[in-house]
Amino acid sequence: MDALVYHGAGKRALEVKPKPDIIKPTDAIVTISKTTICGTDLHIMKGDVPTVTDGRILGHEGVGIIDQVGASVSNFKPGDHVLISCISSCGKCPNCKKGMYSHCENGGGWILGNTIDGTQAEYVRIPFADNSLYPIPHDADEEALVMLSDILPTGFECGVLNGRVKPGDTVAIVGGGPIGLAALLTARFYSPSEIMMIDIDDNRLAVSKELGATRLVNNSDGTATKQVMALTNDKGVDVAIEAIGIPASFNICQEIVAAGGHIANIGVHGKPVQLNLDRLWSHNITLTTRLVDTVTTPMLLKTVLSGTVKPKQLITHHFSLSEIMKAYDTFGNAMEERALKVIITNE
Ligand SMILES: [Zn+2]
Ligand SMILES: [Zn+2]
Repeated sequence: MDALVYHGAGKRALEVKPKPDIIKPTDAIVTISKTTICGTDLHIMKGDVPTVTDGRILGHEGVGIIDQVGASVSNFKPGDHVLISCISSCGKCPNCKKGMYSHCENGGGWILGNTIDGTQAEYVRIPFADNSLYPIPHDADEEALVMLSDILPTGFECGVLNGRVKPGDTVAIVGGGPIGLAALLTARFYSPSEIMMIDIDDNRLAVSKELGATRLVNNSDGTATKQVMALTNDKGVDVAIEAIGIPASFNICQEIVAAGGHIANIGVHGKPVQLNLDRLWSHNITLTTRLVDTVTTPMLLKTVLSGTVKPKQLITHHFSLSEIMKAYDTFGNAMEERALKVIITNE
């Protein structure tokens, strides 16, 4: 089968690899229909994620059709249409029982396209299939549902739920990429009074406006904090969502959070940040971090199927699996290419 293979920092290739086999009775093999490339894959390509080794098939998002199931898989049978979660989980260990699938103690968590082969291929092996796949209707819009593998639950759980967005809140999202936009789409469930989007790219800001941002803050001159404080009468925001993962974006969050507010970190940080406790100690703030658990996927799936949330608006480019090298080039050059999410179809 064709697959996108990682060969160390900066090196990737579209190669022919053997079709995966069932290894454990809880596995399923899924024929990929649609997949995508994540910002995390770009981190991997930079060599930022040492758990990904030479020869790994990348990808942790996608929808497909069950090809085979192991003997103990009871929720799915060949031919079923499924959504693949970026987090695999046994559903039985203490952490899974608490809903913390990301820290599954039986070898689950974020393993797809990381420590085991992923979804940027014609087929993928999904461990713990009963708990790591979600049934989808045969006639569902597959492209919209690809946004549920990772970005919607990540924006919602790590940003909106951890940030405890409430009706009337003032919310600022630092970073208007797919994850920041997913946080924006799902923050709207709670009717905040303002959603400010902070980015350096006017195109992304324009998209965020279409998706419901009420204030656009262009930080290309580094004045985001000043602009947000001016917009809030120097009070700051109730919820500051960090959706980039660099010290500068975290710093904006700690500068703009109001007394009693929440900083919800989503970004994947590769470097330490400075925490200004000398100012924040008396400000009654909370700071949260999280790896997405995907426990809200069934709920989010309903909102997408009903049209309450329309994540298809995040899709900007389409490629076939044979063009995946080009898809990486386009996604890696997101600002010039005006790319948000790219859809890759296994034809
Ligand atoms: Zn992802
Ligand atoms: Zn578990």
